[in-house]
Amino acid sequence: MTCVTGLQDLNSLPAEDTSVVVIGAGPAGLTVGNILRAAGVDCVVLEVESRAAIERRPRAGVIEEWAVRGLDERGLATPALLTTERHTACEFRFEGQRHLFPYQELTGRHHYIYPQPLLVTDLVRSYADLRGGDLRCEVGDVRLHDLGSDRPAVSYRCPDTGRRRVLRCAYVAGCDGARGVSRAALTATGARTARHDYGIGWLALLAEAPPSADRVLFGVHPDGFAGQMPRSPEVTRFYLQCPPGDDPDAWSHERVWAALHRRLAASGAAALNEGRLLEKRVLDMHDYVVEPMAAGRLLLAGDAAHLVAPIAAKGMNLALHDAFLLGDALAGRCTGADPKGTGLAGYASAALRRVWDYQEFSQWLSEVYHGVAGGDPFRAGTSAARLRRLFTSPRAAAAFAEQYLGTAERY
Ligand SMILES: Cc1cc2nc3c(=O)[nH]c(=O)nc-3n(C[C@H](O)[C@H](O)[C@H](O)COP(=O)(O)OP(=O)(O)OC[C@H]3O[C@@H](n4cnc5c(N)ncnc54)[C@H](O)[C@@H]3O)c2cc1C
Repeated sequence: MTCVTGLQDLNSLPAEDTSVVVIGAGPAGLTVGNILRAAGVDCVVLEVESRAAIERRPRAGVIEEWAVRGLDERGLATPALLTTERHTACEFRFEGQRHLFPYQELTGRHHYIYPQPLLVTDLVRSYADLRGGDLRCEVGDVRLHDLGSDRPAVSYRCPDTGRRRVLRCAYVAGCDGARGVSRAALTATGARTARHDYGIGWLALLAEAPPSADRVLFGVHPDGFAGQMPRSPEVTRFYLQCPPGDDPDAWSHERVWAALHRRLAASGAAALNEGRLLEKRVLDMHDYVVEPMAAGRLLLAGDAAHLVAPIAAKGMNLALHDAFLLGDALAGRCTGADPKGTGLAGYASAALRRVWDYQEFSQWLSEVYHGVAGGDPFRAGTSAARLRRLFTSPRAAAAFAEQYLGTAERY
């Protein structure tokens, strides 16, 4: 297996020993770290950003019920998470009408609305402050070494001294998101990346404004998709479909609000609450999956292994799913509860079943959201038929609700 070193004198540097090095302190890495600490397994979490930066990075807000249950079972669900706002329905707006989709009535399940910065703050606190976990922030130039051996290493530049430090370990958990270094290390071993580009962009916005409805809104409009996702009583996320690579600065305050009002308009709907735009960036919508997600002693989790465009609000949920499987498997192996490492051997295939299911759902939903605006009348017709079916066929509605909430009994 390829060694990603680039360092001639690694062996001449003093190395610290630990059982697991976790690269990245996002939802995936912090969950793995917490599970290991709770099991009494030594680990070090390395993070390029500061603690303050990771605790305020805005992204996700919708957590599926099974994911909150999984956090709770591992002692990681705070009272604030367990009592946060729950959503029981979403609303589609098309052809000037509102169409309520009451998914709790169909499945008995709901979504939790809990902004990602709050979840990360809870997980950091639990790992570093309550469980005494070793979290090293603001590290530089993280590199992976000797991945084919039984004792791989991770090195990094120490932010205080500027010197390179080396950690020898039994396993490396690559949880460093879409822009980290672990994915390249895995693909260098021959893992394949499957990628899909949607050919569209989303202008992702955070507005200092209360939500105008206490549920997620999906506007399917000939000008393009628009979405409203409540985040808190004071902050709301909005999305506007735009060309990929579009310049966020081309979207003035006035242009943003005019487009949102137009695309989310429906008879009987309350007017949107406007507010200052706190975040404005263009996401080029794409997905990828690295297969297998593990090679030798390196195992990936979360966005490092698979990215799912935020069309169906699935990315953080998948990161948590991976982290439960990987954290439990590493803990089993490192404590001797699973001496043969059966959990680790089955990790990638167990994780990928849900990953591919969610990817397929995001693709399906993308066509519903974007098909009518593509300028292709045939595609517009089939997309509209897909959407109408949700409100005319109870079986189609039940299937959609199951996928939207991630509640299938088996993946
Ligand atoms: C606008 C937007 C909205 C979203 N909404 C939702 C939603 O509602 N629901 C949902 O489920 N998902 C949503 N997602 C997706 C979700 O945010 C991600 O899937 C989730 O953050 C993945 O978690 P992670 O831990 O795998 O990666 P990340 O959260 O990206 O964490 C990776 C960490 O690794 C660190 N890192 C990077 N490189 C290195 C390195 N070389 N060394 C050490 N550390 C490194 C990073 O700084 C980061 O802290 C959304 C995403 C976006 C962009």
